[in-house]
Amino acid sequence: MTDLLIGGRWTGAIDERTREIRCPADGSLVAVVDEGGGKDAAEAVAAARQAFDQGPWPRTPAGPRGDLLLRVADLVARDKDALARAESLDTGKRLAESRLDVDDAVACFRYYGRLVRTETGRVVDTGTAHAVSRVVHEPVGVCALITPWNCPLPQTSWKVAPALAAGNTFVLKPSELTPSTAIALMRLLVEAGLPDGVANLVLGPGPEAGAPLTDNPDVDMVSFTGGLRTGRRVMAAAAGTVKRTSLELSGKNPNVVFADADFGTAVDHALTAVFRHSGQVCSAGARLMVEDSVHDAFVEAVVHRARGIRLGGPFDERAQTGPLISAAHRARVEAYVAAGLAEGARLRCGGTCPDDPALADGYYFLPTVLDRCHSGMSVLADESFGPVLTVERFASEDEAVRLANDTVYGLAGAVWSGDEERARRVASRLRLGTVWINDYHPCLPQAEWGGFKQSGTGRELGPGGLAEYRETKHIWRNTRPRPRGWFA
Ligand code: NAP
Repeated sequence: MTDLLIGGRWTGAIDERTREIRCPADGSLVAVVDEGGGKDAAEAVAAARQAFDQGPWPRTPAGPRGDLLLRVADLVARDKDALARAESLDTGKRLAESRLDVDDAVACFRYYGRLVRTETGRVVDTGTAHAVSRVVHEPVGVCALITPWNCPLPQTSWKVAPALAAGNTFVLKPSELTPSTAIALMRLLVEAGLPDGVANLVLGPGPEAGAPLTDNPDVDMVSFTGGLRTGRRVMAAAAGTVKRTSLELSGKNPNVVFADADFGTAVDHALTAVFRHSGQVCSAGARLMVEDSVHDAFVEAVVHRARGIRLGGPFDERAQTGPLISAAHRARVEAYVAAGLAEGARLRCGGTCPDDPALADGYYFLPTVLDRCHSGMSVLADESFGPVLTVERFASEDEAVRLANDTVYGLAGAVWSGDEERARRVASRLRLGTVWINDYHPCLPQAEWGGFKQSGTGRELGPGGLAEYRETKHIWRNTRPRPRGWFA
């Protein structure tokens, strides 16, 4: 077995452990992969360190670095079908969604391949004729890139592309549950001509293969996407050597609907906002907030359509959403719903596993709506990361803003209103990294992505995504050196 990439060599795990990857839609065996741990992580860091300190990549000019990223984009596009299939088998996600995720990865590599050529340093006016001052960008160094299981290929691409564009070397540690497209992407980087040791891949569980990356003194930066609790651990571990940290964490995202919104469109988007990929999307609109006067009719319409959502495996073309990632995750979602009911929420639909025998081998959970939710309930404070929609009501614009901001999270959300002025006003008052107006979920490679508050410290995509992986250095050159004479 050779699923780990260390110093340009495909290799097995030092302890020869392996892991079965099973499709969450039916439990079928997808692959058996190497499962690494601390020793593998240490070797990978050493390889990335050597490639950074001695290899050509950090000193390669931006033009050829950009060219390589554009070649990677072409290779990912070439392998779109195989990559989408692998992503769907690992995650259980509908094939159509996985195909969009591959497009997202292609767009990301293209974007950074082009951007890095145009992002130059600058010359600063020194105010004197005998000095020249330049501000230049340099790579941070060795980056540990740690990614979750919900959108593995895009999340990996959002880190790998800007890290490479900036000239870094890296060790990637994907989720132990969904390693297939990470392995495939590393193969494409090698095929594109990336020098040995620049890209390293370690597989294995987070505490064993990921944690050792976060406190290794030879790692300069940790870029982490995952849950809030793990993010806190990563930040604490990285603090020991003052690593740069870029954290993309959980969300509990408000979807705010005013009475003057286009009713049918807002209902339709409220469903995709939360039930797409069974709610396993960091920006899922899991917190529906509806203005009093339309609340009952709106919730009724959402519940009616949620009851009709068809569940199924990734290759079932009639399926509208899929399974949860694992039995453990489904148990967490069940416990989350039970806690909400115990606190007084009302179950409007779902709340349990489907009884369809065709779905019995997968980790399915019915689209669930809980209304009568209010501040102080755990279902509003916590992210379920499942197909669970909580519903609140509000009476005024001020109340909507106050409730929406009453959370430790600040990732994303939406405002629905026919009054453009109001929508813009509310969007600007929401403490969220991304606000959609009369839409939900679109994401652009050119526009930054990242959370406010405890949803993270980092920015991905856009020029800010590249800035995360660069140091900025000021070089002052005295063209006519003379003694100062102060201490003569
Ligand atoms: P997670 O449990 O926090 O894991 C994320 C990654 O960290 C995995 O690769 C995991 O490895 C690894 N890990 C676990 N413990 C670690 C440790 N002590 N040190 C270093 N790495 C460690 O999150 P998840 O369940 O995979 O993903 C779901 C979460 O990610 C949700 O909260 C979601 O909101 C968030 N998310 C955020 C964004 C965003 O852009 N803000 C995007 C997507 C997802 P193993 O899984 O292999 O153990």
